Amino acid sequence: FLTEVQQKVVVLGDFSVGKSSLILRVSKNEFLEEQESTIGAAFINFSVNVDNKPNQIQIWDTAGQEKFRSLTPIYYRGAIGAIVVYDVSREYSFQTAKEWVEELKEKANPKLIIALCANKIDLLEEKKKLLKEKEYADENGLLIYETSAKTGKGVTEMFVDFSKNLPKD
Ligand code: GDP
Ligand code: MG
Repeated sequence: FLTEVQQKVVVLGDFSVGKSSLILRVSKNEFLEEQESTIGAAFINFSVNVDNKPNQIQIWDTAGQEKFRSLTPIYYRGAIGAIVVYDVSREYSFQTAKEWVEELKEKANPKLIIALCANKIDLLEEKKKLLKEKEYADENGLLIYETSAKTGKGVTEMFVDFSKNLPKD
């Protein structure tokens, strides 16, 4: 398909926030409760129709290097989009997400489209409104999504909407 464009989208964030689980959910509709998820590849292909044209994105997963704080710029090189994930049940992971956003703004493609993903919303007892996160996203020009890789809530919707927000050329 000569008209098909493949765009690299990276998923970033602290260790254990659910990056691999989100990709596993969107690609295979599976979820693993106990163990550290793996998608078994560097990336998966995800296809979505935008204006009646197939738009393929490559969703890249880390190999777990973030655990040792050794994820390098090579990972996001050439990316057109980045989804920075944090875990709503772990405040610290939001700080890490902000650090990633700063790094991307400093070092990545200046046209990079960045989204903040609030994952594990199934762990929020009452419907918290994530006000400070939304304010942060607003101030920094980020898209924002709420997901649960566990229940599946918002996951496909996020990848579809994100794809539609990527520049086409
Ligand atoms: P990664 O290190 O960011 O790739 O995180 P993983 O995808 O490996 O997930 C880490 C742990 O969090 C695993 O035990 C998952 O089962 C769990 N997990 C991932 N997403 C969710 C979610 O949305 N809700 C809940 N409750 N647990 C999740
Ligand atoms: Mg992982």
